[in-house]
Amino acid sequence: IKRIAVLTSGGDSPGMNAAIRAVVRTGIYYGLEVYGIMRGYQGLLEEDLFKMESRSVANIIQRGGTILKSARCKEFYTPEGRKKGYEVLKKNEIDGLVVIGGDGSFKGALNLSKEYDIPCIGLAGTIDKDIAGTDFTIGFDTAVNTAIDAIDKIRDTADAHDRLFIIEVMGRDAGYIALHSGIATGAENILIPERKTDAEAIITSLQEKERRKKLVNIIVVAEGDEYGGIELYRLIKERLPNLDTRLCTLGHIQRGGSPTGLDRLIASRMGYHAVECLLEGRYNVFVGILNNRMNYVPLEQVAKRKGRIAEEWMKVVETLSA
Ligand code: ADP
Repeated sequence: IKRIAVLTSGGDSPGMNAAIRAVVRTGIYYGLEVYGIMRGYQGLLEEDLFKMESRSVANIIQRGGTILKSARCKEFYTPEGRKKGYEVLKKNEIDGLVVIGGDGSFKGALNLSKEYDIPCIGLAGTIDKDIAGTDFTIGFDTAVNTAIDAIDKIRDTADAHDRLFIIEVMGRDAGYIALHSGIATGAENILIPERKTDAEAIITSLQEKERRKKLVNIIVVAEGDEYGGIELYRLIKERLPNLDTRLCTLGHIQRGGSPTGLDRLIASRMGYHAVECLLEGRYNVFVGILNNRMNYVPLEQVAKRKGRIAEEWMKVVETLSA
């Protein structure tokens, strides 16, 4: 392997820049040429790539977003699209590809590596932490901390006015952002897609709290929960009209911002090991960290981490909000 390329694809996440930096610097350290591909698979198909130097990644470890930009690419779902991608790689004499993205981007890399002789390495860049086989994904910790920051501020104003706040955080399939930010801010309730939401129980407990004059309450809802913020808001408005209830959807602020120390650290570590994988011939895996050790999961086995939030966590939530 002499020349590798790196791209960021799908939903962006804070820390992707730190990962790009690690891939570029590690590659150069080992005497490889490293190319940056703009806008994920879309840029690959358009041959939008350039040679990166050590200096290309100076002063980016602390920056959110991705200097390579990200995109979704319909064409790459098709064999013809991937053929085009392979031809661009071949033409530019690229013999290894590092894909930083979510499980969708990994599937793209898997299909490419199945059809053509191009080794691919995945790095999990997603705020949702919804990929099995790793304790961390790049961007999750930053997103959780951004949510914590916002929820703390909302609690101040909720407290001043004796209000109930429903706060919707990101997480279409996974409730980890909701769970972690909810626990860390002392939320009274946390609604996640991994668990059936008992709306009646929530209403009953709010009625009971109303009787006790405990009016300040924070409910953190993952966007992928069966209710979601807006539906829960409507239900509570209808059933408990006397409560001063507000809804706040945090939205895209959770994707931005300077990555936390932890995200910079894991992105650097994963990026370094991605290049090592290519050099050692450990192909077509994604680089995870499990129990503080590197865990190389074949792209073939990539799966959404689903329905498996430990009962222990839910017990903690229930106990601490009682
Ligand atoms: P994420 O990587 O964040 O999960 P997506 O699911 O949108 O985001 O995937 C990003 C891109 O990866 C898609 O736009 C597409 O180009 C490519 N991709 C996703 N799934 C596949 C697939 N099954 N086959 C080929 N390419 C795919």
